[in-house]
Amino acid sequence: MLAELIDLLVPQECVHCSRPGRTLCSACTEELKGRGHRSDPTPSPAGLPPAFSLSEYSGVTRSAVLAHKERGVRSLTRPLGWALARAVAATGHGTVTLVPIPSSRKSRATRGEDTVGLLACRAARDLSAIGVRAEVRPVLTQVRARLDQAGLGQAARTTNLLHAFVATSLRSNGAVILVDDVITTGATLAEGARALRAIGVRPVAVATVAATALKKGEHSVGRPS
Ligand SMILES: [Zn+2]
Repeated sequence: MLAELIDLLVPQECVHCSRPGRTLCSACTEELKGRGHRSDPTPSPAGLPPAFSLSEYSGVTRSAVLAHKERGVRSLTRPLGWALARAVAATGHGTVTLVPIPSSRKSRATRGEDTVGLLACRAARDLSAIGVRAEVRPVLTQVRARLDQAGLGQAARTTNLLHAFVATSLRSNGAVILVDDVITTGATLAEGARALRAIGVRPVAVATVAATALKKGEHSVGRPS
């Protein structure tokens, strides 16, 4: 709330096209609208539930996600939360329990907040407004340090993430959906799903704001970051 106020008081420009005014100009905000759709990675890691996203991780979406996550531009929680809500709505469930993927300890220490948790809370409010009953249950905890996933190929990501999360007990009234800002190889979300199944909870879907379009062969080329 305070961050949103500061964004309003300090002169801003659009995080994508640099137009002076809001942190996301109205033309760029339009790009974040639309309908959610299936966005399963190819290949899909074992145990990954069906994936849904609003858009491809490029252009306006990429600029907005990065500014929100890396630079803490909190006025973007609203449009990104709405985008996440659209992805969740595309799963077709009328009552949902959103489980956010926790930020890595490093990013939480740097930026002080759990950015995906913020998006999930915003999305839950937007879902309620369109008649989907939604609650947020941040039951996943990171139990093992992991490398930044960026720059790791799928095999390396899977190893990096093996048993990275643990889930505390979850009593949910609806379909359990794991949420994150971006899905790339799906390794992080598959590990989240494994941690939930370990406590007897079966997530029915994963939903993200955006999905990275993997280039041919990219998934098999790993390099440590
Ligand atoms: Zn713009």
